[in-house]
Amino acid sequence: MNPINASIITIGDELLIGQTIDTNSAFIAQELNKIGVWIKRRVAVGDVWNDIGQALDEESKHSQIILITGGLGPTADDITKPLLCEYFGGKLIVNEEVLAHVKYLFEKVYRRPAPMLERNLKQAEVPDVCTVLPNTIGTAPGMWFEKEGKIFVSMPGVPIEMKGLLINEVIPLLKTRFQLPLIIHKTAFTFGMGESMIAERIKDFESALPPHIKLAYLPGFGLVKLRLTMVADNKETGEKEIEPLFSKLKQLVNDVLVSDEDEGLEVAIGKLLLKQNKSMATAESCTGGNIAHLITTIPGSSQYFKGTVVSYANEAKENVLHVNHDTLTSAGAVSEETVREMVKGVLKTMNTDYALATSGIMGPDGGSEEKPVGTVWIAAGNNQKTETLKLNLRFDRLRNIEQTSLTALNFLRKFIINNG
Ligand code: AMP
Ligand code: MG
Repeated sequence: MNPINASIITIGDELLIGQTIDTNSAFIAQELNKIGVWIKRRVAVGDVWNDIGQALDEESKHSQIILITGGLGPTADDITKPLLCEYFGGKLIVNEEVLAHVKYLFEKVYRRPAPMLERNLKQAEVPDVCTVLPNTIGTAPGMWFEKEGKIFVSMPGVPIEMKGLLINEVIPLLKTRFQLPLIIHKTAFTFGMGESMIAERIKDFESALPPHIKLAYLPGFGLVKLRLTMVADNKETGEKEIEPLFSKLKQLVNDVLVSDEDEGLEVAIGKLLLKQNKSMATAESCTGGNIAHLITTIPGSSQYFKGTVVSYANEAKENVLHVNHDTLTSAGAVSEETVREMVKGVLKTMNTDYALATSGIMGPDGGSEEKPVGTVWIAAGNNQKTETLKLNLRFDRLRNIEQTSLTALNFLRKFIINNG
């Protein structure tokens, strides 16, 4: 089955100057992928008449479906609607349903005391050559056009409005219009080995892959996701073909494999703790609560995560975690001894089965000859034993924090597996 291709055009000067990050494209791409539509291209253009027109021309050469967001506001800088009207040879007419909805929003939802402005009422004007898709959250409706066998859908730029329209209107309609194949992804999540090393190790596997199964390397801070992708006619035949290959891939990276799902270390740790029915806490100096933040992004983490002590200053390490004053003055805050005592302290304070502690110099200042910027100590432990790890990082402050957090989580994950 040939894939159905789609292009995404995002419109707005703010996207081009980096003021707004284009999250709409990512969301649309993920949702279309789920229903088997292949994203062929993504383009961002400014609020410029000719540029938008050219993007429409160009994308209709590549794709059967062109999804557009942005430029539908009531202000003069938003020109997408009149442009589409001209492009598809229509004229603007008031749509009574949209008008009623706009009035409803202003009177009942926004509760504006002043009368509605002309420009707000204009939101109810739509080209007479489109099918109107209702936007329940905002004033600008979605618009569905067809030209020479291609489908063009225009949606507002505001992410929550775009999402509502896409999920409730656009996707159901696309499903009825096309017989769609299934796109299968299998992702192995690894931590602790660089992508070049992994590539070297799996090169024979990679070169033996059939051409319709693609392997992608997605590196992050210390992690690499390996994704196999194929387009299949149905789930059964697809799974039958991809599953043995995925198993082989997992075997090849078994020593650094964290998960065979596209999920983070915090999810893997959560699953382990739930399985063991155990709890954990963190004592964070240099990561400043970031590890706790990562863990608590996972719904249901309250079942195993009790809390963190952000013991940034020495007083906090001493007073809250009962790290010895002598340890702090002799070995220093960034030392193996200190992180060991932090683990001990937080295990007791939080009364948990496991604990994880970090202390380090994140930079750009604060380093010394003996302990340069990037020196980090991590400890993971339970009531029987504590293990430690020293890092020598060389990134900027934010990346050092992120890298320390992830490495610490992986260290704890291994500790739990070996000592559970
Ligand atoms: P507009 O439909 O152009 O009036 O867009 C309204 C608001 O939506 C803008 O101010 C942006 O903050 C936001 N927005 C527009 N396009 C995108 C996009 N591609 N991704 C995320 N936010 C966007
Ligand atoms: Mg705009």
